[in-house]
Amino acid sequence: MPGRHFLFVPGPTNVPDRILRAMHRAMEDHRSSAFPALTRGILADLPRVFRTERGQPFVFPATGTGMWEAALANTLSPGDRVLAPRYGQFSHLFIDCAQRLGLRVDVLETEWGEGAPIERIEQALRDDTAHEIKGVLVVHNETATGVTSDIGAVRRAMNAARHPAMLYVDGVSSIASLDFRMDEWGVDLAITGSQKGFMLPAGLGILCASPRALAAYDRARCARVFFDFGDMRKANATGYFPYTPALTLLYGLRESLDMMFEEGLDAVVARHHRLAEGCRAAVRAWGLTLCARAPEWYSDTVSAVVVPDGIDAAQVIDVAFRRYDLSLGAGLNKVAGRVFRIGHLGDLNELMLLGALSGVEMAMRDVGIDIALGSGVGAAAEHFRRTAAPLAERGAAPRSPDTSTPAPAERAPVPRAAAAR
Ligand SMILES: *Cc1c(COP(=O)(O)O)cnc(C)c1O
Repeated sequence: MPGRHFLFVPGPTNVPDRILRAMHRAMEDHRSSAFPALTRGILADLPRVFRTERGQPFVFPATGTGMWEAALANTLSPGDRVLAPRYGQFSHLFIDCAQRLGLRVDVLETEWGEGAPIERIEQALRDDTAHEIKGVLVVHNETATGVTSDIGAVRRAMNAARHPAMLYVDGVSSIASLDFRMDEWGVDLAITGSQKGFMLPAGLGILCASPRALAAYDRARCARVFFDFGDMRKANATGYFPYTPALTLLYGLRESLDMMFEEGLDAVVARHHRLAEGCRAAVRAWGLTLCARAPEWYSDTVSAVVVPDGIDAAQVIDVAFRRYDLSLGAGLNKVAGRVFRIGHLGDLNELMLLGALSGVEMAMRDVGIDIALGSGVGAAAEHFRRTAAPLAERGAAPRSPDTSTPAPAERAPVPRAAAAR
């Protein structure tokens, strides 16, 4: 099909042309004297994205799934107990990974559509008077349901219970897009991958470990080979990797970090919030609901839209793809057929999202969902107009007076506070 494909799954996300160009290069010797400059720069800059000064970053040729394994295997021993709420396909798989590594998982079954159950976590930790539980495993942004959990509140619950367990956070669809504060929230293992907020192809697992996590490494007895923190730290200390690094992806990561720093990390978070609010305005205008059950859990990186009874969400996705060249995310596991997901993270702006929303509207009409074409697009466009930054801030040249533009007094203020949410 001519024109650009509209990729709106919640990962992999669109790779900006700038990153594509940065990755387009000939192979080089990863043992050369020039190579450490690349490694050192990346490892020095990554902690900013996690908002940590104490955390040690790791970059593995892997994906987010590999980083679950790396985080657990490097810090725990077979038979160790961990506590984990399950509220979607990714928390489910995180638990599965822990179980297959020989850990005993106390699963807190939680409604799909809700976030981490703070009070139940605190109670479970209080009940564990012998401090057998070594870790609390939480998915920050459950990509399957479009639910963001309050990690700061999880940390406060752990502190209130005076429990020494480490905090493992899957931030695969949050880090580099949503507000994430590794140090402030006392996260011990922060896990992510390259193909979501970092705007890269899949292929890098990225992780940050707290000093406590690094200390736990010495006691941990789970088997690890490829993902061994010790081997990686030793090689990284000299600017190298213990095996052949994914060179093109590292050049891409360098460019991705530069782009995020140029935009500003707070601005990245605020942009995701504003785009997500536009998407949610569209869903409301359609008369549909999100899988996330309350606003406190609404995700700024992915919206899981519930289709009316009698409609198969998989059909919406299939029609969108075949007829309009638009990729939407499928409902996974328990919510298969009930939801389709709109990914709104990474390299994205208002008009891209409006284009996707118009494709969603057409596909929904095609499969028999009774919505008015343009209703959601109009609501989202209105939101974007109301919250647009003044022209000067975007560096646009002053224009002649335009009567269709509301006077400054009529404009709603730009929600700068969004970044602090
Ligand atoms: C995408 C995703 C993963 C899995 O990552 P892979 O890179 O596919 O291994 C894990 N957790 C969450 C929350 C995700 O969104």
